[in-house]
Amino acid sequence: MSPVHRLTVVIQVARLRWAPGPLTDQRSDCEIDMSHTYPVDSQAMEAFLLRLIAAQSYSTEEQDAAAILRDELSRLDFETTVDDWGNVVGTLRLGDGPTVLLDTHLDTVPVVDRTEWKHKPEGEVVGGRVFGRGSVDMKGPIAACVHGAAALRGLGAGTIVVNGGVAEELVEGPAAVHVARRVRPDFAIICEPSRRRIARGQRGRAEVVVEVAGKSCHSAYPAAGINAVEVMADVITELRRLAPPTDPVLGEGILVLTDILSAPHPGLSIVPERCTATFDRRTLAGESEDDIVDPIRAVVDSVTARWATQGWVRIADDDYTTYTGVRVTAPNFAPAWLFEEGEPIVETAAAGLASVGLDARIDHYRFCTNGSGTAGALGIPTIGFGPGDEDQAHTVDESIALDDLHLGAQGYAAIVESLLKGDHR
Ligand SMILES: [Zn+2]
Repeated sequence: MSPVHRLTVVIQVARLRWAPGPLTDQRSDCEIDMSHTYPVDSQAMEAFLLRLIAAQSYSTEEQDAAAILRDELSRLDFETTVDDWGNVVGTLRLGDGPTVLLDTHLDTVPVVDRTEWKHKPEGEVVGGRVFGRGSVDMKGPIAACVHGAAALRGLGAGTIVVNGGVAEELVEGPAAVHVARRVRPDFAIICEPSRRRIARGQRGRAEVVVEVAGKSCHSAYPAAGINAVEVMADVITELRRLAPPTDPVLGEGILVLTDILSAPHPGLSIVPERCTATFDRRTLAGESEDDIVDPIRAVVDSVTARWATQGWVRIADDDYTTYTGVRVTAPNFAPAWLFEEGEPIVETAAAGLASVGLDARIDHYRFCTNGSGTAGALGIPTIGFGPGDEDQAHTVDESIALDDLHLGAQGYAAIVESLLKGDHR
């Protein structure tokens, strides 16, 4: 027997010892070396996903989905807790070694007009795809990571923690930070859909509020006052000339006007005395709140000086109350993050995927995730990985392919095993 054969046998024996269940997934073998397939209970995973989707869980209303996740984690031998914010945390202690946090969020964006949906927003399987709100963002990835992690029971090394977090669709980061501060993981995996590529970073996001003062007067004599909306028009024009910073991987730190409000409103026969505009700024790795605010403030100061008035610039505050009744306030600033391709977590995750014959392409997220909390705020080595196409997120007839789901579960198991064992096989 050659050394290579001996190694294969050892691995197969090890798999049988720590996971004696039958291999039920025979549909998704196109990419997988079947001798290395993890014993994921595919039927249970699909049923769990459909239960999760059926439990409507808009932000701050995640209680039903939280209960379903907690039950499934308990059934799969995780110790479960629900923290004060309502984050569901499941822990699987497998032995000595590092702790890997699999971060997910339970909330979804709403179904705006269900008459636009051809498929049931509450979930249905048609033609090998699961349709429904949250199927991609991110109940499909929740189902895949929970069952992928459960397939590692008996591994004998490390600890796996699954976070089913709240209110990510309102603001990325705070719930993950709340959990990660307690769990103190060595590695974090953001389980948002990535087409099963390893995401090594993302742009962040800042909501910037600009307010300018005017001087109200009768609109029949506008020269007697200062029109706050006209002041803001100048601010907007000049801000459009600000060249955004650029990152060669993540792209541009764009600044986009998202709303504008004058006061008083409606302004009948009156020159407005206030105008407030909100901007979405995509942040790049290393940018702080001051880096974002200072150039905008310089523009606002120069325009308002010309008009002989005043202006203010600040990061918006998010303010929401969780389904457990806890009020959360946090600045709407989600830092960017980016790890090198040679960073150990990136290399180890890629080696884990490759070891079971899965695609190990490295990419980055185009949208903002809780990685802003784990990597951007806390500095925890983080990658993103998840089944599903990010373009499906927040869409009518959102869906995920079952094959993708199954390969995602295999991918989570492979990455987590690789990180827990610290090997590159
Ligand atoms: Zn998401």
